Amino acid sequence: MSFDGPSALAAPPLVDPFGRSVTYVRVSVTDRCDLRCAYCMAEHMSFLPKRDILSLEELDRLCTAFIRLGTTKIRLTGGEPLVRKGFMDLVSSLSRHLRSGALKELTITTNGVQLEAYAEGLARAGIRRINVSVDSLDPDIFSAVTRGGDLKRVLSGLKAAKAAGLAVKINTVALKGWNEETLPDLIAWAHAEGFAITLIETMPLGEVEEDRTDRFVSLRAVRERLESFWRLEDLALRTGGPARYVRIAETGGLLGFITPLTHSFCESCNRVRVTCTGKLYLCLGQDDGADLRAALRGAADDTAPDTALDAIIREAISRKPKGHDFAPERLSTGPALARHMSMTGG
Ligand code: SAM
Ligand code: SF4
Repeated sequence: MSFDGPSALAAPPLVDPFGRSVTYVRVSVTDRCDLRCAYCMAEHMSFLPKRDILSLEELDRLCTAFIRLGTTKIRLTGGEPLVRKGFMDLVSSLSRHLRSGALKELTITTNGVQLEAYAEGLARAGIRRINVSVDSLDPDIFSAVTRGGDLKRVLSGLKAAKAAGLAVKINTVALKGWNEETLPDLIAWAHAEGFAITLIETMPLGEVEEDRTDRFVSLRAVRERLESFWRLEDLALRTGGPARYVRIAETGGLLGFITPLTHSFCESCNRVRVTCTGKLYLCLGQDDGADLRAALRGAADDTAPDTALDAIIREAISRKPKGHDFAPERLSTGPALARHMSMTGG
């Protein structure tokens, strides 16, 4: 599976109307998942029919088009990327762009459930860093948040990732009544394991059973609490995303805060997202986008330098909005956007 050709030559990079270069694409490879985290999915989610989902070849062509247009970082996500059949074939195929130097980083976000079996293969394909979501180290709470997940499997996955030499960042959604009280323990654990960790505020994406206001924890309050016993040193480190990083002097580890509701991070945004159905979203908090699946399925191949796909991507980027439209008061009035995070990709 490979779509190199003249089109692999770099075209002028994508720059949006606000002068931001779009160099980072998150691609959801499936809407399915082997967990049902309460803040992310409804318990009885209905998933999309297979024909609506991009094939592995289409995903490869799509990623290759972005790389041609100057993307240097791709994150494969979901749903749960490791449940996608043939996922490793896609990773292996895309790794050619790492070897050519066009792509600087290929990475994934996973829930870690199946990581034990995949860690070594990911490292062999040139993946250096991965994000693994862990909301609690208490097996019962983990099971409650994920509706039945087995923490032991995630911990085995993390062990395998370490053994394979993968750098790990833990993602943790701060949740009232579930992990709010134990966040310092989770941070201390991550740092002792040599992992960075990022705390995330819940975002109003997609209908779930719970009222998210009940679970919302302000990370400003969490930070204040952490500062009562740790020294948090602000870092200049910017990833073009919503995370702000500190180093904890006592643990030596990195801690990120993702606060989309209480903090605007849009001015340095360098990213777009593509759903598993090929819908390009220009902003996590806005509905505007473009249908790339039609372009992918309309053309026999995309090896010509100036393809329909490239043109659609370019045109869409010219509409990238200045910023998102989340607001804390919208948490209790239903989702700000109808799509779930598992569609758009985290
Ligand atoms: N299944 C993988 C995982 O859980 O890491 C990848 C996809 S998941 C949608 C990506 C990230 O989004 C996870 O860290 C998850 O905790 C986060 N997430 C999902 N729904 C969210 C929401 N409504 N608000 C904030 N974060 C959310
Ligand atoms: Fe699945 Fe990830 Fe959503 Fe949890 S956060 S339900 S693991 S996609």
